[in-house]
Amino acid sequence: MSKKIVIVGGVAGGATTAARLRRLDENAKIIMFERGEYISFANCGLPYYIGGTIPEREALLVQTVEGMSTRFNMDIRNLSEVTKIDKHKKTVTVKNLKTQEEYEESYDYLVLSPGASPIKPPIPGINEAKNLFTLRNIPDTDAIKEFVDHNKPQKAVVIGGGFIGIEMAENLWDRGIEVTLVEMANQIMAPIDFEMASILHNHVKEKGVNLILEDGVKSFENQGKKVILSSGKEIDTDMIIFSIGVRPENNLAKDADLILGERGGIKVNENLLTSDPNIYAIGDAVEITDYINGKPAMIPLAWPANRQGRIVADHINGKKVKYPGTMGTSIAKVFDMTVSATGNNEKTLKRLGINYKVVHIHPGSHAGYYPGAFPIALKLIFDPKTGKIFGAQGVGYDGVDKRIDVLATAIKGGLTVLDLPDLELAYAPPYSSAKDPVNMAGYVASNIMDGLMDTVQWDEIDTIIKNGGLLIDVREAMEREMGYIEGSINIPLGQIRNRLSEIPKDKEVYITCQVGLRGYIAGRILMENGYKVKNLDGGYKTYSAVFGFNVKKSCAAQVDDKGVSHPVNCDEIKANISLNACGLQCPGPIMKVYQSMENMKEGEVLEILASDPGFTKDIKAWCDKTGNSLLSTSFENKAFKAVIQKGKKHSATNTNPSEAVLLNPDKKDGATLVVFSGDLDKAIASFIIASGAASMGKKVTMFFTFWGLNILRKENGPQVEKDTLEKMFGMMMPKGPSKLPLSKMHMGGMGPKMINYVMQKKNVDSLETLIKNAMDLGVKIVACSMSMDVMGLKQEEFIDGVELGGVAAYLGDAEDSGINLFI
Ligand SMILES: Cc1cc2nc3c(=O)[nH]c(=O)nc-3n(C[C@H](O)[C@H](O)[C@H](O)COP(=O)(O)OP(=O)(O)OC[C@H]3O[C@@H](n4cnc5c(N)ncnc54)[C@H](O)[C@@H]3O)c2cc1C
Repeated sequence: MSKKIVIVGGVAGGATTAARLRRLDENAKIIMFERGEYISFANCGLPYYIGGTIPEREALLVQTVEGMSTRFNMDIRNLSEVTKIDKHKKTVTVKNLKTQEEYEESYDYLVLSPGASPIKPPIPGINEAKNLFTLRNIPDTDAIKEFVDHNKPQKAVVIGGGFIGIEMAENLWDRGIEVTLVEMANQIMAPIDFEMASILHNHVKEKGVNLILEDGVKSFENQGKKVILSSGKEIDTDMIIFSIGVRPENNLAKDADLILGERGGIKVNENLLTSDPNIYAIGDAVEITDYINGKPAMIPLAWPANRQGRIVADHINGKKVKYPGTMGTSIAKVFDMTVSATGNNEKTLKRLGINYKVVHIHPGSHAGYYPGAFPIALKLIFDPKTGKIFGAQGVGYDGVDKRIDVLATAIKGGLTVLDLPDLELAYAPPYSSAKDPVNMAGYVASNIMDGLMDTVQWDEIDTIIKNGGLLIDVREAMEREMGYIEGSINIPLGQIRNRLSEIPKDKEVYITCQVGLRGYIAGRILMENGYKVKNLDGGYKTYSAVFGFNVKKSCAAQVDDKGVSHPVNCDEIKANISLNACGLQCPGPIMKVYQSMENMKEGEVLEILASDPGFTKDIKAWCDKTGNSLLSTSFENKAFKAVIQKGKKHSATNTNPSEAVLLNPDKKDGATLVVFSGDLDKAIASFIIASGAASMGKKVTMFFTFWGLNILRKENGPQVEKDTLEKMFGMMMPKGPSKLPLSKMHMGGMGPKMINYVMQKKNVDSLETLIKNAMDLGVKIVACSMSMDVMGLKQEEFIDGVELGGVAAYLGDAEDSGINLFI
């Protein structure tokens, strides 16, 4: 005898079940009830239709009642609400919403997929707010779109920073609406942890969204035209999106005495059967088992609903299939960024008292030398004893989805972090690196498990320093100009072996760098020398996402001849000069800005595009340091754009000209470098530092002495008169940048060739170009006349532009400098 299956709910879970049922059994009688008008529509696409990215409404309607009925030979009744289940009689009561007529329908199996509805608590004024919307289905979408199209709101408040809230914030912003996003927790995007969400916080703020965290709605006034927050803050608005979460539609199940979980989800077993053996339940309405920790959970996402629908159809048809639980793999577009996560986050593991370890890495989305690579902030959480992967999170501009999907697959496959380096993943420069970010995360985690390096986290380091801990920042001095952890001392990685005597051995030493890699290398050097070391996981990049700069989209005021400032609209500012620094690595873009600004008049505006993601932070630091005004930063067409006004700083919130920030000309703001070494690597480092300092507006003098003089020699210099000893000496010494040896790993000349090749690959300028750039930036190159004499070198042998000077000239410049380095 053929089975009769009744399905409640005709969208994600319900429609999937129905289709699979038919494919497995041509004779089954299938009736699908849907309360709304539409079945099988694309809930996940709704925000993008409102924003205009999906232009056609029809595209949202994946299936129609007629289409699906015909194709699958099933009885689909829309505008029909199931109001009651009689589990003893095995019937449901149905109300035809067109005619209000009620009738009963019997079943052999009942499948509940009623979904979850938006939570709408009785906040004072909520029912009177005619401009307040929730978003779940097509009618909600039509109402919001109609309101935006016809009322042309200028301002919107989105309440709730989950998936739907954020997607709506972006889509309203896309429609040119000024958006305020209010979230009660201290972060948006609950599935990820705070430091990862902080990257998104910075990004949405950069986009101009007014992000308010740790504040809830107290009431709505003036028919929703005013939102009053718990803090007392009042926000005027033209419309409100209310998206604080969803609640399982459990009324039918509750009335039928089916067992519910603590949070109201319908309880099901591993076959997705409820407490009644003929009633299945799936989708947003059910309480499932968390795949990682085995505890009950509610995870309202489309993948579980679809998967469960298929499993239920299989089970009804006698297949022995089980649903093993939900991992919560999720992804969302947050303006230009992608956020994705799988498994458990730290918050959950902490709550459950599960011991775990974390790694943060920041690899490129693909090979750095192939254009368009962006860093991914990737977080891996694992069991330090067994290597079991608890979860992973990723935030970035590109390539996040594939890394989280690989990690989600690894979790389902039962792989540990020790297996991740072994994953042989597809590689070519436009797509990845030979060591994929997933491999890298595995290497870092394996190092921790193998005891090669222990780590501390971004939220521990400040307390460690406060309690007297020593944090060594192994980045170059110039990198610290863009920000550093307060209380850290600077010993660049290249110097650490020679400066061991400065590092106390009697206490634990903490290391930091930009992303954690150089910290690891420095840490290994120290550990090999008997130190106890911990590396700051994720380096300054992870730390600064939480505590670092917040570049806000702000517009400067234009200052007139009388020094009076007038606030202006960002969009109205026309750049006098436009630069494209895409493809250049730090400090390349900053140097370009500096060079252009040198020739610009006060008040003129420069617009620059760069592909280096650190650029927006760097340019903010640079502007702050040099007294110029950062008018706006944005991300357009896969490039970061900064608009800078030369000179006096007047922000929109600081329009008082007397508060202008000007460089203090009397300040000791120079830098001197004594270049004693003639090694290629040290020469490169000294010119990078010099150019960086010059770009920050410092007066830089490089004083070349002894072996350092060889850096300045022309490869094919003129014949000059020398005595025999001078001639011999001159022949034995390297002539110019291309002949310099490496301080380490010279390997009979292979080392310098390799480093030149790597620099070229990574878009780092050659030493010759670095020298030229430094000179163009106004760096003074002085050859020590005394050592020239000793080495038998003449001025004609040097590249053009080299000045000769004695110790007094050097000391004079050093006197005026804040920085004095010996290389
Ligand atoms: C705007 C939006 C964007 C989303 N984006 C994503 C995303 O990007 N990724 C993702 O994974 N998930 C996303 N989701 C969540 C995803 O859509 C849900 O997890 C999924 O639809 C759940 O499927 P379901 O079958 O349980 O419920 P639904 O798809 O909501 O279907 C339930 C249906 O049952 C009907 N119904 C309820 N009670 C009755 C009754 N008594 N009688 C008859 N019919 C009834 C309802 O009218 C409803 O149409 C999004 C959801 C929304 C609203």
